[in-house]
Amino acid sequence: FFFTPAEFVKSATSLHMIPDNTIIPEVAFIGRSNIGKSSLINGLVNRNGLVKTSSKPGHTRMMNFFKIGDRLSLVDMPGYGWKSRDEWGGMILSYLQNRKNLRRIYILVDPSHGLKESDTQIMKLLDNSGLSYQVVLTKIDRLSKTKYQAAKAAVEAELVKDAICCYPLILGVSSKTKDGLDDLRATIIKAGQL
Ligand code: GDP
Repeated sequence: FFFTPAEFVKSATSLHMIPDNTIIPEVAFIGRSNIGKSSLINGLVNRNGLVKTSSKPGHTRMMNFFKIGDRLSLVDMPGYGWKSRDEWGGMILSYLQNRKNLRRIYILVDPSHGLKESDTQIMKLLDNSGLSYQVVLTKIDRLSKTKYQAAKAAVEAELVKDAICCYPLILGVSSKTKDGLDDLRATIIKAGQL
């Protein structure tokens, strides 16, 4: 099992469009736009072009479902341009809170920018709902080792304060050099109990 072969299942813009298969363990990826989410999912499953880059209009308002055989479901969540109180945000919240097979949410953060308010807001929301999440620092090839360690320590220090459901291991990945992808796959396998 090496995260292949991966295939696109469907895009959902409303709750009733979400695949009703809740047997396969599922993990979701979320983060601000341009964080490297599409590149990361493509890198994880070793298939360039599986997830289209999100610059096209409309893409931001979709949840995209992928699956790897019948073992794992991956969800590309829309960027943060939503509020939990508006209709679209309500749908996302409802998906997160009610999805029986959702094992973990991966929150992608750019280490050179650190945690933004939108990141901490979603973490609070996940904490309040008792949903397991884990922070993944993206594009680490852009930082020197020293700068990366400092950035990681800064994110860690902020998380310690009140993150309840945060898996206590921050990962760093680069879709460009493939660094960290195996570690991320390993935590997904663990989270999904695959
Ligand atoms: P998304 O909007 O979150 O899906 O982000 P994309 O995957 O489309 O990436 C946004 C931009 O960051 C693109 O220009 C990518 O080429 C670049 N990018 C993504 N991942 C990496 C990475 O690991 N290293 C570097 N240097 N650039 C990356």
